[in-house]
Amino acid sequence: MICHDAANDIDFWAPRACFLPPIPEVDRAAELLAEAADALLAANCALALERLRQADMPVVSNYATMIMGRYDLNIHRKRNIDIDLQKGVRVKQRMPSPQVERSMYSRDGWRCRFCGCRVVLKPARDRMAKLLPGAIRLGPRAQDCHAAFLALSAVPDHIIPHTYGGTNDLDNLVTACWPCNNGRGSLTLNEVGLIDPRSRPPLVDGWDGLGRMLGQATDAPQRRPHVMHESALIEGIKLHGNVEPTTRRRQHDGRSSEDAWFAELNRTDPTLSSRLLNFLRNCEDLDVSWSLKKILIVRMKVGGIATEIFGVDRNADVHIPWAIHGQKDKFRNFAENIAKAIPGAIAYETPKSWNVSKFAKKFVKIEELLDASQFIHMALEELHTALRRFQ
Ligand SMILES: [Zn+2]
Repeated sequence: MICHDAANDIDFWAPRACFLPPIPEVDRAAELLAEAADALLAANCALALERLRQADMPVVSNYATMIMGRYDLNIHRKRNIDIDLQKGVRVKQRMPSPQVERSMYSRDGWRCRFCGCRVVLKPARDRMAKLLPGAIRLGPRAQDCHAAFLALSAVPDHIIPHTYGGTNDLDNLVTACWPCNNGRGSLTLNEVGLIDPRSRPPLVDGWDGLGRMLGQATDAPQRRPHVMHESALIEGIKLHGNVEPTTRRRQHDGRSSEDAWFAELNRTDPTLSSRLLNFLRNCEDLDVSWSLKKILIVRMKVGGIATEIFGVDRNADVHIPWAIHGQKDKFRNFAENIAKAIPGAIAYETPKSWNVSKFAKKFVKIEELLDASQFIHMALEELHTALRRFQ
C-alpha cells in the first residue's frame, strides 16, 4: 500500500514509467476490440456487437477514471519543481501534422509509450461507431463512455509540453493512451515523476491500432463530398475569423476590475473563479486563452486563427457561442457535444449559429460547465482537430 503521508518516502517519490500500471482487463479489452473489428470486417455484426459489449468493462472504466479524474496524490504525485521553466514560448502549431502523427504511431507500434497498453485510433473507433450505431457509448461522463475506448484511445503526447515550447517534431512526441496523456495534462515529466519513455525502446509487435478499420473507410465514396464541404468551411473561417486574438490570456494579477468581476462571479459559490481559472489553465494544451472585459471571452487558437468559443458573464451564465465568425456548421458537433455533457442542456440552431442552453433558452451556468470539464475539454479537442484537419 502506498504511504503518501511520509514526505521523505523515497520509494513513493521515485520516478516510474506511468501513473498506474494497466490492469489485465485493459489488455483483454484491446483483444476484444480487435475481435470486434475483425468481425465487422467479416460482416458479422452480431459477433462484433457481442465483443464490444464484453469490452465495455466497468473495471476498465474505473481504472481510466482514476488517472483521468480528479488529482490524487497517490496516483499523480505532483511535486513543485520545474516551476522556473519558461512558459509562453510556444510553437505556432498546437498539434503535429497527420503525417507526423502517423509516423509516430507506426514507430511506437500503436502502444502507449508510458503504460505500454495497446491503443486504438480515434478514426477507427468512429468508423466502428458509424457501422454499429449505438454500440459505442460516448456520453458526457466517464461512466457514460465505452470503457475500452475511454482507456485505449490513442493521442500524441508532447514530452516537453507545448506550454513550455515543446515542438511537434517526431522526437518530442510519443504515442499515449488517453488516461496517460490526460493524467499528465501540461505538467512536465519531472513534475509528476515519470521516466522519459524515450529511454525505453517501443514495442512493435504487429498491433495496428485497429487501423484495419480504415482501409475500407479511406475509399468510402461518401467521404469525398464531406471533405470538400469541410474545406470550404475552413476557407470561410480564414476569410471571416480573427487572425489574432486582440488580447492574450492575462494572468489574474489582482487588478481591481478583474477582482471585482471574479468577486461577483463568486457570489453564489466562492470557489467558482478558482475552478474556472483552473479549467482554463488545463485547456492551455489546446491553445485556449481568455480575456476579460464586461464578459470573460474564451478563445481557442488553431493555426493562427483564434475562434471565440464561449463567453461567461458575471452572473455565471455561459454564452455558447459568444461569436462564431462564419463557422456555424463547425459548431454543430461542438454544440451537440457540450449539450450532451450538461444535464438538461440542448443544442439548437439559429440562422447564424448553433447554441447551447437549458430548456426555454435559460443559460447554462458556469458551474455546470465546470462539473463536466473533462468532457468540455474533449469537445474542445474534437473541435480543434476538426479545424486543424482542413487547414
Ligand atoms: Zn498509457
